[in-house]
Amino acid sequence: MEEITIQEFDFALINEFFTELERQGPGSSEETIRALGFIGNLSNKAKIADLGCGTGFQTMVLAQNTEATITALDIYAGSIDKLNATAGKLGLQNRVKGIVGSMDNLPFQNDEFDLIWSEGAIANIGFEKGLNHWKGFLKKDGYIAVTYESWFTDERPAEIEKWWVDAVPEIGTIGYNISIMQKTGYIPVAAFTLPESCWIDNYFIPQKARQEQFLKKHAGNKTVEDMISFMRREADLYSKYKQYYGYVFYIGKKI
Ligand code: SAM
Repeated sequence: MEEITIQEFDFALINEFFTELERQGPGSSEETIRALGFIGNLSNKAKIADLGCGTGFQTMVLAQNTEATITALDIYAGSIDKLNATAGKLGLQNRVKGIVGSMDNLPFQNDEFDLIWSEGAIANIGFEKGLNHWKGFLKKDGYIAVTYESWFTDERPAEIEKWWVDAVPEIGTIGYNISIMQKTGYIPVAAFTLPESCWIDNYFIPQKARQEQFLKKHAGNKTVEDMISFMRREADLYSKYKQYYGYVFYIGKKI
């Protein structure tokens, strides 16, 4: 039987759930800053695109740790409204602009960006497809930095294999993903795995209170109950199988 995937739940409900949380995927400020450390100096002339930015947790970290101008793009307008409000509160509105759009049809100029960033989002259009499409918007010698679900071992138990192949059909090992990076025209600069705390402390634990709240708000709604069960299963599977997979930060330089 086909396993249901998170994308199959109602888009509005998923976003209503996640936009109240600080992050919509695993990650941390420390790891964003660590990835930024592999990229050359970004002056006040530099331009960054943050794709699948969500409510912009990592966007603000990028803004606070560079002098660059950042365009953050997400398909969900509610997240973009929140991102622009946060940028305003932090006094970053002159350098950070959130826009609604789709990352497989970017509204940018060729060779526009010094850096394209994307945490936890490239799987929505596919790793290879995303790397290929986004390259055109990067300047020569520009950088790409993405986090992407990856296998840590060549083999893994069938239960977790099935879960991830249903969710991200082209999921591969770190070595395979680096080879895709090379094939699509980037020099691999670094790849490092996100620590467990990025999943547990910053993703699964903050979901718990929100899940209770959401079940109360939508009492009797079967779709919501199924969505929360799915999220709880995702967390259980992570604690059972975390030695087999995780998010990896891939950093490359356009040739
Ligand atoms: N980068 C944020 C973070 O790490 O907290 C959000 C990651 S969340 C797992 C994935 C994001 O990708 C969501 O905000 C979702 O709305 C966005 N997304 C999904 N498909 C998209 C598309 N085709 N174009 C732009 N954004 C998309």
